[in-house]
Amino acid sequence: MFSSLRKGLIYQDVSPNIIDHDVDVDVDQWSYDGRDVYKGVLDPRYIKDKLNVYWLYDDDSIRVGLAEHEAESPEIFKTLWFYDNPFATLLQNPLWKPSGQTIWSLLSNEAYQDCLEDDFRTLEDRALNSGTLLVTPKMLMEKPVVFECQTCGKKSLTKSCQSAFVSELDFSKYSLLFLDDSVIYEITTSQPGDASDQEPELEQAPPPADPHQPGHPVDHRHQRPVTPPADHPQQLASPPSERPQSSPSATP
Ligand SMILES: [Zn+2]
Repeated sequence: MFSSLRKGLIYQDVSPNIIDHDVDVDVDQWSYDGRDVYKGVLDPRYIKDKLNVYWLYDDDSIRVGLAEHEAESPEIFKTLWFYDNPFATLLQNPLWKPSGQTIWSLLSNEAYQDCLEDDFRTLEDRALNSGTLLVTPKMLMEKPVVFECQTCGKKSLTKSCQSAFVSELDFSKYSLLFLDDSVIYEITTSQPGDASDQEPELEQAPPPADPHQPGHPVDHRHQRPVTPPADHPQQLASPPSERPQSSPSATP
């Protein structure tokens, strides 16, 4: 989950299991975003970020999210929730849903056969070279690079040609297909008019516009801290308080 209070901070630990430091502690019930939850004790891992982070649990001690408070001004806080799919959780937007399609249902027979021949190891690169970027949650969390070969002209997400030069992956140059475990995800509009204005911006949103010229070589892939697509947080993940339906599971 991308932090709402700290740009660049990603909460990677999103297991529903109770976290070690909350085992056998007394917890109080609190209401966050109108949802009654049990609040664990301070997670010391984020003190360095000047954040007081508390994991939140439901009645069955299932971890359902977290509250991040400014350490120096605890009244300033954001609540992040786990959702039922990785894009919704990562981007903190429950409008992300499986599209009902898989990558396999989108491939032509011919493309499927081509991919089958090499055990689907080249699926991402084949898509890339046809102008489609298969965007995984991992790709949104990291700063991916693309290798472009000036000899054969092929692009790859891994170094496949010796003479390839590397550059930051510019999402805006591709049509995007959001994918996790072969399932295609898309941002939906739960109610007509409700969030439909988010859709046109989506193509531009993840990740931030690349400050480098296209093809500009970079020395190494983690030149800068990871920048979430939430460079445009209002477009991708509106703050919980502004969401019309922040938590489907909170609905009685
Ligand atoms: Zn080449």
